[in-house]
Amino acid sequence: MNKYQYIRQSAYEANMRLPGLGLVLFTFGNVSAADHNLGVFAIKPSGVPYEELSPRKMVVVDFDGKVVEGSLRPSSDTQTHAVLYRHWEKVGGIAHTHSTYATAWAQSLRDIPLFGTTHADHNTVDIPCAAPMSDEMIRGDYEYQTGFQIMNCLKEKKLDYTEVEMILVGSHAPFTWGKDAAKAVYNSAVLEEIAHTAMLTEQIRFDAPRLKDALIKKHFERKHGPDAYYGQ
Ligand SMILES: [Zn+2]
Repeated sequence: MNKYQYIRQSAYEANMRLPGLGLVLFTFGNVSAADHNLGVFAIKPSGVPYEELSPRKMVVVDFDGKVVEGSLRPSSDTQTHAVLYRHWEKVGGIAHTHSTYATAWAQSLRDIPLFGTTHADHNTVDIPCAAPMSDEMIRGDYEYQTGFQIMNCLKEKKLDYTEVEMILVGSHAPFTWGKDAAKAVYNSAVLEEIAHTAMLTEQIRFDAPRLKDALIKKHFERKHGPDAYYGQ
């Protein structure tokens, strides 16, 4: 069996979930699955419609973004994935979509406020929105710099990538990640739901209150405390 079969298969399955979850249009979006022991990841090829994808069409690239195996061109966002895998050894999957509500928040350059317990079950902080990139970063290696924009934002906000598995890139769209590609896609769907309900919350009440500290603490502890029991 090809040593990349496992990541090809998981990248394929994760990508194929995006249209069904309503997170992508046409060929938008991409998911990758990494194998840190082999120092490679499998990612969706560029410009191929979802219905034409197969595990064999996934492109295997190294953490410098160079193609290791595959005849198609890897996703145009490959360098962003590569930079993140190179720095984040505990991440096994990354997803990028332009899902409607998360993208609307990214275009508004706003963090998504922590309004309720659905949000708190996944993150006990606001969903961070990285500032749009500087002109210098944009003119340079744009996709490569997007990876640094994501890492710099987490660093500035003192957030750990193992705790917060989703971010908005200002003026662009969301990126999510997780222990594997399936978890990265799950996080994309969760983020879209959080973004949607937060927008509706502000429409219903423009000065809606943030979640009470006691509830934030409760949700953090039920996920991370010594007596963690969250699992739904
Ligand atoms: Zn994009």
